[in-house]
Formats: sequence, C-alpha cells, structure tokens
Amino acid sequence: MKFKYAILVVDMLNDFVTGALKCERGLAIVPQAKKLLEEARKNHVPVIFCNDSHLPNIDHELKLWGNHAIKGTEGAKIIPELGPQPTDYIIEKRRYSGFFHTDLDLLLKELGVNTVILTGLHTHMCVRHTAADAYQLGYKVIACSDATDSFTKEDYDYGIKYFKEVYDAEILNTNELVKIFEGQ
Ligand code: ZN
Repeated sequence: MKFKYAILVVDMLNDFVTGALKCERGLAIVPQAKKLLEEARKNHVPVIFCNDSHLPNIDHELKLWGNHAIKGTEGAKIIPELGPQPTDYIIEKRRYSGFFHTDLDLLLKELGVNTVILTGLHTHMCVRHTAADAYQLGYKVIACSDATDSFTKEDYDYGIKYFKEVYDAEILNTNELVKIFEGQ
C-alpha cells in the first residue's frame, strides 16, 4: 500500500493553549508542531485543522468543561504560530472527535488520504476520539509523539499507549515524519 498522508491538528486553539483551558504542556509542543506543519506544506502533505467551535448553551460538553472555543470568539481561533495557511483545511467540530458530524471523512477521501498523522490537544481526549473514528473508518493512524500532549504526563502516556494497543498506531516524532515526507 502506498501511504498518502494528511496531518490532523486537533484543537490547537487559543483557548486550549493560552486561554480558558490553557495548558503549559500544550504550549510546549508549539515549536515542534510548527516545524511539522511547515515541512508538511513544503512536501504537499495536507494540513487539516480540527477545531472545537461550540454553540453556547447548547453543546453539553460545556457543562463538563466550562465555556471554551465558542464559535466566532478569539478563543476558538487557531493559535497564531500555526497559521492557518491558505492551502490548509479547517473542520469545525462540536464534539471531541474531528469526524463526528463533520465532513472530515469526505474531505480525506477526496484528497485520497489513507493515513492520518495526529497532532494537537489532548492526547487522551479529543485526539484519542479522533483516532478512534479514523481507525474505525479504515485509516492507518500515526501519532506524532512530540506534537501532541495533555494536561499531565500521565494522560499523555495513557493516550499514546491506547493508540498503540487499540488502534495499531505507529508513534513517530517530528524528525522521523519530516524524513518520510522528504522521501515521498
Ligand atoms: Zn470542546
């Protein structure tokens, strides 16, 4: 099988990095995520942002987490370090998974993608739910180990372990992925 990649960038939004649900470990992955996205764009690997875009007083997840990434607010915007660039794609989601009631699967099929590279926040939560749907829809799953994280190391480790054991995921770091892009 020839691998056709896309990068899924989950919830790298102001509210998740520096805002309402700010996360120091999330801030720490920004340089690697930036490098990965720049190299992907250079090598024509699609970059797809999967962004929380919640409806206030409607989305039940807000009861659990408080208001965050409300559609149309600063908090719901992609952090400035990561773009987006005109060639990138943006999927708005209202649940943890980037696939749930969005057209992400349709877009990936139209792009001819069979392998998704997961990055962003949080490894054990929105990234994991996105990985679940990717796997169940038949995509090969790769997680970029230094471009995803969680509030704690325990949650991160749990997410990575789950990817490997349950979704047969490959865990690669940014440098390893850049080499793959360059060798395509
Ligand atoms: Zn949310």
